[in-house]
Amino acid sequence: MPEITEVFGSNVFNDKIMKERLPKETYKSLRKTIEQGHPMTVEVANVVANAMKDWAIEKGATHYTHWFQPLTGKTAEKHDAFISPTPDGSVIMEFSGKQLIQGEPDASSFPSGGLRATFEARGYTAWDCTSSAFLKTDDAGNVTLTIPTAFCSYTGEALDKKTPLLRSMDAVSKQALRVLRVMGNKTSTRVASTVGPEQEYFLIDKKYYDKRLDLITTGRTLFGAPAPKGQELEDQYFGAIKDRVSKFMKDLDTELWKMGVSAKTKHNEVAPAQFEMAPIFSTTNIAADHNQLVMECLQKVALRHGLVCLLYEKPYAGVNGSGKHNNWSLATDDGVNLLEPGNTPHDNEQFLLFLSAVIIAVDRHADKLRAGAANPGNDLRLGANEAPPAIISIFMGEELTDILMALGQSKKAHSRGQHYLNIGVDSLPSLPKDNTDRNRTSPFAFTGNKFEFRMVPSSASISGPNTVLNTIVAESLDQIATRLEKAKDINKEAAAIVRETVKEHGRIIFNGNNYSEDWVKEAKKRDLPNIRSTVEALAAMANASAVKLFEKYKVLSKEELHSRYEIYLEQYAKHVNIEAQASIDMVKRLFIPAVIRYTAELAETVAKLKSASASAIVQKELLKKVSDFLADANKKLAKLEAETKKAQGISEALHKAEAYRDKVFTAQGELRKDIDSLEQILPASEWPVPTYAEMLFKL
Ligand code: ADP
Ligand code: MG
Repeated sequence: MPEITEVFGSNVFNDKIMKERLPKETYKSLRKTIEQGHPMTVEVANVVANAMKDWAIEKGATHYTHWFQPLTGKTAEKHDAFISPTPDGSVIMEFSGKQLIQGEPDASSFPSGGLRATFEARGYTAWDCTSSAFLKTDDAGNVTLTIPTAFCSYTGEALDKKTPLLRSMDAVSKQALRVLRVMGNKTSTRVASTVGPEQEYFLIDKKYYDKRLDLITTGRTLFGAPAPKGQELEDQYFGAIKDRVSKFMKDLDTELWKMGVSAKTKHNEVAPAQFEMAPIFSTTNIAADHNQLVMECLQKVALRHGLVCLLYEKPYAGVNGSGKHNNWSLATDDGVNLLEPGNTPHDNEQFLLFLSAVIIAVDRHADKLRAGAANPGNDLRLGANEAPPAIISIFMGEELTDILMALGQSKKAHSRGQHYLNIGVDSLPSLPKDNTDRNRTSPFAFTGNKFEFRMVPSSASISGPNTVLNTIVAESLDQIATRLEKAKDINKEAAAIVRETVKEHGRIIFNGNNYSEDWVKEAKKRDLPNIRSTVEALAAMANASAVKLFEKYKVLSKEELHSRYEIYLEQYAKHVNIEAQASIDMVKRLFIPAVIRYTAELAETVAKLKSASASAIVQKELLKKVSDFLADANKKLAKLEAETKKAQGISEALHKAEAYRDKVFTAQGELRKDIDSLEQILPASEWPVPTYAEMLFKL
C-alpha cells in the first residue's frame, strides 16, 4: 500500500507539478493568470499545454477532454486523442495551447433555453485555470487528461453552472475587499468564498436495484410499503460501518485522493442504508468541481462492489432524505476567515460587519436561496408532510444572538469567553465548549466560523446555491462598504450598521426547532416566505428583483436568468413525466399482472373448497379485498394516464410544470396508495419487486 501522501493528488497537474515542469517565466505568468486573472498569452498556453500533455502521457493518457457543467447539473466531456497525422502516414502526440484554452463541442443537445439558436450548434468551452487539470481513469484502463472549463454560447452567454459561479466569486471578492480596506486592511488582495459540501447518499444492493424500474429511471421508489422498521431506533446514525460498505468507502477515498479531492470524513447517516462523506473545504469553484467528481465516483465505485449509489433527494418514503450541507465562509488570500468570531465577538467589529452582511442578504433574498436549492427531489424533502418546512431562517446560537440583540438595542454586549465542559470524570480532559451549540433543524446555521446551508439537494450541483449566496452577500457588503467609505467616524457607523441589521432583519434569526408546527405559524407572522414547490420557488430566479441583483453584479444577465428559469421548469415537467411513465409501466406490467395471478389462484381455491363443502370464508374475504383494491388501482391508473396525457399537451412552460405538479404528481401518489396496500396483502412470494425491508436493510 503506498502512503496516502503519495497517492493524494498523484493524478493532478497541480502547483507542485507545474513548478517542476514549467520554465520559470511561464510558471510565473500562469500564476498571475490564476491568482489575478491576467490574460494568458498564446506562447504561455502553448508551453503549458505541452507540459501537461507530456505529464499526462507519462501517466498513460491517450486522450484529453474539456470537462464542463451544462445546465443538466451533471458534467459533460468529449474525448479527443492527442494524435496528429504526419506526412509519412504515422502520427505524433500533440496538444496545442489553443486546444488547451478553447474547445468547440457540438453542443446542440444541451439545454440552452433559447440562448443558442439551433443553427448555431456550437458552444464554446474555455479553460478555467483556477481549477487544476487532472487525470480521470476508468476500469477499462483509459486515462484522460481532464481540463475543467466554462461553457458559453457564440455570443458569450453562460450555458453552464461554472461561469456564473466564477462571476459571483469575483463579485463577492470585490465588495468584501472594499469593506476590509475601510477597516484598515492593506494586505489582502482577494477574498474567496470557501465551501465544504457534506454529501449524503444511499447505497442499495445492485440485485435489488436492477429489479426496480422506478429506481433505474427516476432515482426514487415510486411504490413501496414501509418496512416494519424505519429509522426510529436511530441505530444507523454514526453506527459501526459494515465491512462491505467500508470496503466501498476505502476504494472511494483512494479514487478521490488520486484526483486531489480531500475526502476526509465518512460515516453512517440517520436513515438505514444512508451515508455521508465530507471533504476538507476549498474555494467554492474547486469545491463545486470536486463535488461533481465525488458524485461521479460514488456511483462508479459502488458498482465495483455490487452496489448502486442513490443520490436522489428522497429515494424512500418515510425515512430521511439526502441533502448536501453546504458549509460556506469568506476567507482572505492571506488566510483570515472573515466569519471567525474569535474569543470576544462583541468587540470584533469586522466579524460583526460580515455577519451582518450575511443576515441582511439571507433575509432580503431568502426566496432566491430557496430557488437555488429547488429541484424535483427536494420537493419531497422540503415542505412535504414528513420533511422540514421550506422556510429559510438563520440559526445563530445563544451567545451570538444575545450579543446581536444587545447591540441592536445599543446596550453593552458581552462575550462569554472560553468555556470548558465539565464531564465529571477526572481522567478525561476538560473540553473547550464551542460558542455556538448545534441545531440540526436549521436550514441555515452558523456553526462556529461558517454558515451551513442545509437545503441544498443531494443530487444537484452546488454551483447554483453558491452563486446565489455569493451574489446576495456581495450586495449587502457593497452597501456596507459604501456607508463606511462615506462615514466620518467608521466605528460609529459600523455600530449603526450592526444595530440596524438586527432591527430590520432580526426576524430571520430563529434558534428553535424548525421542524415544529409552531415555527410554521411563527414564520408566517414574521412574514418569512414558505415556498413549498420547485415550480413556485423558481419564479424568484427570474423576477424583477433577481434581474436587478444579478445584472448589477454581472453574474447573470436577464436573458441568462430567463433561459435558466425556462430550462428548470422544463426539467421539472420532464422529471415528473418520467415518474408518471415509470409508474404506469410498473403498474400495468408488474403489479396488475401479479394481482391478477393471485386473484385467479384464490378464486380457484374458493371453487375447490366449495366443491369439497369446506368453508371458504377467509379466502373469499381476501379475494374481495384484493379485487377491490385492484379495481381502485385500475381507476387511478386511468386517471394518471389521462392527467399525464393532458400535461404532455400543454406547451407553455409554467402551466405545464404546474399541471405536472398539481395533477400528475398527485395522481401518481394516489395510485401508489393502492399498490402499497396490495403489497401488504399479497404473499411475499407473489410481489414482483424488492421490498423496502430488502432495499434498506440488506446491504
Ligand atoms: P459538522 O459537524 O457539521 O460535520 P465539520 O467541522 O466537520 O462540521 O465541517 C463540515 C464541513 O465544513 C467540512 O467539509 C469542513 O471542511 C467545512 N468547513 C470548515 N471550515 C470551513 C470554512 N471556513 N469554510 C467553508 N467550509 C468549512
Ligand atoms: Mg455539518
